[in-house]
Amino acid sequence: MIGAGSSGIAAAKALHQRGIPFDCFEKSDRVGGNWVFKNANGMSSAYRSLHINTSRERMAYSDFPMPESYPRFPHHTHIAAYFDAYVDHFGLRSKITFRTAVEHAAPERGGWRVQLDTGEERRYDALLVANGHHWDPRWPEPAFAGTDEFAGVQMHSHHYTGEDGAFFRDKRVVVLGMGNSAMDIAVEASFSAARVFLAARRGAYVLPKYVFGRPLDQIATTPKVPFKLRQKVAAGLLRASVGDMERYGLPKPDHAILEAHPTVSDDVLSRIAHGEITPKPNIARLTERTVAFADGSEEQADIVVYCTGYRVTFPFFDPGFVSAPDNDLPLFRRVFHPDVDRLYFIALLQPLGATMPIAEAQSEWVCDHLTGRYALPPRAEMLAGIERERAAMRRRYVASKRHTMQVDYDDYLFDLRRERRRGLRRTGR
Ligand SMILES: Cc1cc2nc3c(=O)[nH]c(=O)nc-3n(C[C@H](O)[C@H](O)[C@H](O)COP(=O)(O)OP(=O)(O)OC[C@H]3O[C@@H](n4cnc5c(N)ncnc54)[C@H](O)[C@@H]3O)c2cc1C
Repeated sequence: MIGAGSSGIAAAKALHQRGIPFDCFEKSDRVGGNWVFKNANGMSSAYRSLHINTSRERMAYSDFPMPESYPRFPHHTHIAAYFDAYVDHFGLRSKITFRTAVEHAAPERGGWRVQLDTGEERRYDALLVANGHHWDPRWPEPAFAGTDEFAGVQMHSHHYTGEDGAFFRDKRVVVLGMGNSAMDIAVEASFSAARVFLAARRGAYVLPKYVFGRPLDQIATTPKVPFKLRQKVAAGLLRASVGDMERYGLPKPDHAILEAHPTVSDDVLSRIAHGEITPKPNIARLTERTVAFADGSEEQADIVVYCTGYRVTFPFFDPGFVSAPDNDLPLFRRVFHPDVDRLYFIALLQPLGATMPIAEAQSEWVCDHLTGRYALPPRAEMLAGIERERAAMRRRYVASKRHTMQVDYDDYLFDLRRERRRGLRRTGR
């Protein structure tokens, strides 16, 4: 297995408990991946102030609740400690080979040949990929005119740590993006910068973490409620709690609520209302000292932070083997590659909800397959299933590199349970 982030450790636990022998290689010196601030692997996108945007109960593994002493939306240090505790609780630490990266993996004679950065080569029957997909920064494509001329700092949110308290002080800052990191970084900058401009390529609904004293992500999410009704409930809650985005000067979203990955922030609308953040449309071009926007306005700027997302990459696969051009890798129920045997992806998806319980359920499913308790449908059926899911995703979500592997947390878990039962019947057991 590749990786011992929150997805890899869920898979390690499932394999361990089912008695399936495995090796887990982790590039870093500890588990937790993205949630380890300044992770020694150099891949974490966490910043000093980062808190989860999915609630504690939604993020926890099903059999290992987060401590009651944690806040509802814990800090990254809590989350990293939680993953450490999980690994110790289930006796997984000794199963993980730390400070060891998988450099190359390729199918060979019905199994897998794996090359480690120690120079060692090993052979396995199956390969689980849990290398994460929030570490390889995606910069604006194509780059804005004038990018090379700009004399100030241009950075990707991946590289923002928030450690230098003076970084934004008295600076004029442009933050590009309407995702969760953009919200956090714009808010953080707004407390010390001279000006903060929040530039958006498209509008988004900014959801509060709480409504009526409850985490929003715990309200009316069950698959028993039809999606259209869930959408109505969410729209009603948003209207009652914050109202239309245009009232804050933000662009009107070009889609209905829940048709894009959610942006969650309790703070950004308040900072806009206080005049500490100024919404802007997309960047049109940069000059040596300014940023010009799509509405013709132009502002002096010292720092531009691109919160433009991540590329899905697998550096250990040969080019042309398995890849995700434009972040798109069609998989059967987001786990099985239809053309490559015994290759499993864990949490290669973007849930409306948290990732961890999904990684856990996928891992159990993979173990079913490895132990013969689950049989895949025939290839044609898999491909038809993949196409159906993709068509549904395209119908539902705004076309963007961000929406290539969206799933609804509860619906996905429900569907996975059904598929596991179907696959068990296929085995004839
Ligand atoms: C700023 C930010 C906020 C987020 N907030 C949330 C949230 O609130 N809720 C939520 O559910 N999700 C959130 N996410 C998504 C986040 O990706 C997941 O929470 C989670 O980190 C996914 O875990 P993972 O194990 O799949 O990947 P990662 O956490 O990225 O872990 C991958 C692991 O694989 C290892 N690895 C990679 N390549 C190799 C290799 N070749 N050899 C060996 N080891 C390797 C890495 O060292 C790393 O430890 C957020 C993401 C970001 C960037």
